[in-house]
Amino acid sequence: VSKASAILHADLDAFYASVEQRDEPRLRGRPVIVGGGVVLAASYEAKAHGVRTAMSERRARELCPSAIVVPPRIRQYADASKTVFEVFRRTSPVVEGLSIDEAFLDVRGMARIAGSPEDIAVGLRRDIREHVGLPITVGVARTKFLAKVASAVAKPDGLLVVPPNAELAFLHPLPIERLWGVGPATATKLHERGIATVGEVAVLAEATLISMLGRAAGRHLHALAHNRDPRRVDGARRRRSIGAQRALGRSSPKSPAALDANLVALVERLAHRLRAARRGCRTITLRLRFADFSRATRSHTLAEATAQTQTILSTSRRLLAAASPTIRRRGLTLLGLALANLDDDRAIQLALPFERDRDDALDTTLDELRDRFGAGAITRAVLLGRDPGLTVPLLPD
Ligand SMILES: [Mg+2]
Repeated sequence: VSKASAILHADLDAFYASVEQRDEPRLRGRPVIVGGGVVLAASYEAKAHGVRTAMSERRARELCPSAIVVPPRIRQYADASKTVFEVFRRTSPVVEGLSIDEAFLDVRGMARIAGSPEDIAVGLRRDIREHVGLPITVGVARTKFLAKVASAVAKPDGLLVVPPNAELAFLHPLPIERLWGVGPATATKLHERGIATVGEVAVLAEATLISMLGRAAGRHLHALAHNRDPRRVDGARRRRSIGAQRALGRSSPKSPAALDANLVALVERLAHRLRAARRGCRTITLRLRFADFSRATRSHTLAEATAQTQTILSTSRRLLAAASPTIRRRGLTLLGLALANLDDDRAIQLALPFERDRDDALDTTLDELRDRFGAGAITRAVLLGRDPGLTVPLLPD
């Protein structure tokens, strides 16, 4: 861990709602809700009335009757995200994307060419405003955890630098909910014991926290309350392949529909991981294990790298279809998928036509929605055999 505060956490403010306000002047300064059924994003004017992401639209309208509700425009958000990440990559060679609208940037050793971390953060905020037209908040600290806390505290449209000698003075007065990993359940347990601030967590022995919260959560909170976070900004996760597999059990032959459902689940998961890492793949390999323990692989290499679920799925389905006589004969007990020949996202962009395929924007937004609402929240239309579109469940009030 560096001795200087040189990790930036950059996070767009109320991302979807800010894009709407950017593109439609009549929405500026007004409470704006992006959604339909549920709130996908709320402008700060709407948040001031208590409107929150994932709330039902009905509840949001009760809280803020003057809110203007607009439908999501997926492609615009995906385009804005691409440009924002281009600015991130121009700002620092080490960028670790966390989601569609936030990233860590490591700016150690850049003082001579770009100034202090604070100078770099000021410039980054100005560049995003100029090139993308959106407000972004940046937290700067020595650890990733603290940089993320700093940006959350500085929102909206802010900049907060936590110098190394002021870390605990900054951290300890904050409510425990600011600690990464403290959800409602953990917060309730701590509040029941009269613990409300990070400082009150910090005075407890690790063993005490473990007895309250369990081993993993106790150790985690103890470390964070003392600002111990050794994680590096991982901008160079250069993995050669990613893979996953599903055991199918040894009993009874599987129907083609059941095999396809397993394949879809694998593709969904890996394509999401690929995009989260901002990579693309060219080679898709199906791994099969049969009831007699023999194995086979089938693979196909695409002309261009892709991170699109639909492209990976259709290739995987062709590979599975080609193997189906063997599967029928020997019985399949394990289905695996590996994505290899990984490229970075920039290479993919060059290969794309000017007008990006709508599947690409759809994937990005589905990932974002799943990250926010949980993996089960959004069902890809292909699973339902319906027309492409978003299926967003109604959440309880
Ligand atoms: Mg954000």
